[in-house]
Amino acid sequence: MAKPNMLTFPVKLYRLRCIACGYCVSLAPEIWTLSKADGKVAFIDNGDETKSEVNVFIDRDFLHLVKQTEAICPVRAIRVM
Ligand code: SF4
Repeated sequence: MAKPNMLTFPVKLYRLRCIACGYCVSLAPEIWTLSKADGKVAFIDNGDETKSEVNVFIDRDFLHLVKQTEAICPVRAIRVM
């Protein structure tokens, strides 16, 4: 997981909203996965995530891709802050 700095941007996951459709994982498997623990969206570096809301920092190189996943999510569970 990236640390907060000028080369990263913050993203919030509203995991309670996630319906585990997998659209975001299909589009950006290098960023998102589905948690092995509860089946909902998780950051790829923390595949055992179970919290209801999670804040992560992601490298700016992935900003466009993460915005695409934000747009494709049918329940607005991924929010670029
Ligand atoms: S697209 Fe949204 S609802 Fe579907 S798995 Fe990703 S975060 Fe969950």
